[in-house]
Amino acid sequence: MSKLIGVFGGTFDPVHNGHTKIIVNLLQLIPFDEIKVIPNGVPPHRSSVGSNSDRLEMVYLAFQGINQISIDEREIHRKGPSYAIHTAREVLNEFHEDKILWIMGSDAFSGIDTWFEWEEFIDLVNILVMARPGSKIDPTSKAGILIKDRQTSNLDDFSQGIGKILIVDIDPVNISSTQVRKNLAFGEKVNDLILDDVSDYIDSGKLYTKTT
Ligand code: ATP
Repeated sequence: MSKLIGVFGGTFDPVHNGHTKIIVNLLQLIPFDEIKVIPNGVPPHRSSVGSNSDRLEMVYLAFQGINQISIDEREIHRKGPSYAIHTAREVLNEFHEDKILWIMGSDAFSGIDTWFEWEEFIDLVNILVMARPGSKIDPTSKAGILIKDRQTSNLDDFSQGIGKILIVDIDPVNISSTQVRKNLAFGEKVNDLILDDVSDYIDSGKLYTKTT
């Protein structure tokens, strides 16, 4: 039988309680069989960010214990730039009998028309958009018009290549990696923002101590 698979990509620099809470919330709302968490590969010259291996390790720590989650390392190990369209083609190919839903926050979806080969991307996958505090999608923007044209509320509409958009109301969580990095750089508390295991990992590697 065909499965419902979510794909949740991000830089996770670092992974925070927003990421885990929204995924737990989504699993309560949508009958996903699996959600693949895919950390982006980030070029090594971006020195202010966590390394690929640190970000990957923290993602494992944060999502351990959530049954339907699997961590997918393909973008971390990909040579050269890592684009969602390439990942989408691979995933659709591997799971051609299943329904794939690309999961993202409203901030990410607002900029969808800047993504590499975005027009192909939106026709290839179905997209689930979660409202993020402070990131309302302007209805006159490209993203807003796409929602108007493609929004559905019926999960049965999803099959490969249909290019539908599902907006899901999740419990808002006002946390970002930017805020976590800032707090860490200034020696401020992060215990309400990230999990203890992630915090211990950051402490032991003295990550995110620079303000750059
Ligand atoms: P940064 O502050 O560095 O931009 P971030 O907090 O947005 O990072 P990402 O790893 O870039 O974290 O996010 C991965 C995905 O999770 C994106 O689709 C983003 O929209 C979504 N997301 C992250 N935090 C939240 C949140 N608090 N509520 C809803 N969606 C979120």
